[in-house]
Amino acid sequence: MNVSKAVLITGCSSGIGRATAERLASVGWKVYATARDPEAIASLERNGCGLLTLDVTDEDSMRSAVDEVERREGAVGVLVNNAGYSQSGAIEAVPMEKVRRQFETNVFGLARMCQLVLPGMRRQGYGRIVNLSSMGGKLTFPGGGYYHASKHAVEAISDALRFEVEGFGVKVSILEPGLIRTGFAETAVGSIDGSDGEEPYAGFEEAVARATAENYERGPFSRLSGGPESVAEAIERAISARNPRSRYVVTPSAHLFLGIRRLLPDRVWDTVLRSSYPQPGR
Ligand code: NAP
Repeated sequence: MNVSKAVLITGCSSGIGRATAERLASVGWKVYATARDPEAIASLERNGCGLLTLDVTDEDSMRSAVDEVERREGAVGVLVNNAGYSQSGAIEAVPMEKVRRQFETNVFGLARMCQLVLPGMRRQGYGRIVNLSSMGGKLTFPGGGYYHASKHAVEAISDALRFEVEGFGVKVSILEPGLIRTGFAETAVGSIDGSDGEEPYAGFEEAVARATAENYERGPFSRLSGGPESVAEAIERAISARNPRSRYVVTPSAHLFLGIRRLLPDRVWDTVLRSSYPQPGR
C-alpha cells in the first residue's frame, strides 16, 4: 500500500500557517494549504501548495477538505492544527458567545480535525499530528484567561491522543512557541471589547492591550521573540523525525517564561505579574 505523507495545514492565510506551508513545500512535502478565505492563500499555489477552503468552526468545511485530500492522496498523512487566535479580556467581561467561539476554533476545531483524519491514518498505519499549543498552554497571563484555557485544553487532548494512537502508527507532537511576530498580537488586542471607562475592568483591559502590543513590538521581551519561520522549522523537524518529541518549545521567550513559571509558587508569580498589570479593584 502506498503511504500518503500529504500535509494538511489549517490557518495558512498568515503567520505560522503560511510560513509552514512555504517551508514544507520548499523542501518537497506535498502540502495542502487551507484557509477560511481562499483568496488569502492564492499566492501559495506558486510555492507548489494545493489549496483548499477550510474553516475549523464549520463541520461541512472540515469534512470536505479532508475528503478532498483523501480522494487525491488516499489519506491525510500529516495534520498541522495551526488555526487559532487569542480572545483576550477579563474573565468576567468577555461575552460568553466570544468565549464559545474561542473554544470552537482553538479546541473543538482542532479535536474534530484529528477525528476526521485519523481513520485514513489508521488505515495506512502512518500519520503525524502536530498541534499548535503555546507556552500559554502551561502558564497564564492575566487578561488572557480564555486563550490560555483553550491552549491548556490542547495540551491535555494532545497528551491523551499521543497515547491512544501511537499503536496505529500515528505520532502526535505539541508545539509550544513563545512570542512569535505574526498577526497574532493585533488580533488579540482587537479582540478586547474595550469596556468603557465606567467598567471595573476598563483600565486593566487597556493595560493588557498595551502589554500585548509591547511584548511583541518593542518591550524588553520582544528581543526574545521569533519569526514564524522558527516555528515552521520546528514543525518540519517534528514531522521528519523518526521518533518526534512530544513537545517542541520554540523561542528564548518560551524557554524563559516556562522556566520561571516552573520555579515560582503561585503567589510569587502573581507578584511578578503585578509589575506589568494593574490589578482590577485595587
Ligand atoms: P495569525 O497570523 O493571526 O494566524 C492565525 C491563523 O488562524 C490565520 O490564518 C487565521 O485565518 C486562522 N484562523 C482563525 N480562525 C480560523 C477558523 N475558524 N478556521 C480556519 N482558520 C482560522 O497568528 P499565528 O501566530 O500564526 O497563530 C497560529 C497559531 O499559533 C495559533 O494557534 C496561535 O494560538 C499559535 N501561537 C501563536 C503564538 C504567537 O505569539 N504568535 C505563540 C504561541 C502559539 P483568518 O485570516 O481567516 O483569520
